[in-house]
Amino acid sequence: MATIFTKIVKGEIPSYKIFEDEHFYAFLDINPMAKGHTLVIPKKEVDYLFDIDDEMLKEMIVLSKKIAKAIEKAIECNRVGVMVVGLEVPHAHIHLIPIQSEGDMNLSNKRVELSKEEFGKIANDIVRYL
Ligand code: AMP
Repeated sequence: MATIFTKIVKGEIPSYKIFEDEHFYAFLDINPMAKGHTLVIPKKEVDYLFDIDDEMLKEMIVLSKKIAKAIEKAIECNRVGVMVVGLEVPHAHIHLIPIQSEGDMNLSNKRVELSKEEFGKIANDIVRYL
């Protein structure tokens, strides 16, 4: 069965898209740890990040860098934290999280609630800098 992220890539589930090319897709996390929290995924369904083949993984990291730079410009933060968890969705993804301090990377933190309009504006702001 397709993962929820494959459904997002296919447009069967809506997302706030940040980037798309032949191999990758990036979108805002729907339950963000901070404004601008973005997920970068391969289109190919691979559960575990470190099972992705070397060339694709290199591309994915370089793409994550490019998106992180755009997030830094669009969202006020000290830097963009990078996290890989993958316990909830079995489709590899890199979390890019704008943070002020290391406490902002705590998975137990209360998530930020945003309206559709706020999500849309954040996505537009990030995309402008890509
Ligand atoms: P994990 O697999 O533990 O790295 O977490 C999966 C992440 O995917 C969580 O931060 C969720 O908020 C996020 N997520 C789950 N479903 C969606 C969705 N439909 N759109 C955007 N983000 C999602």
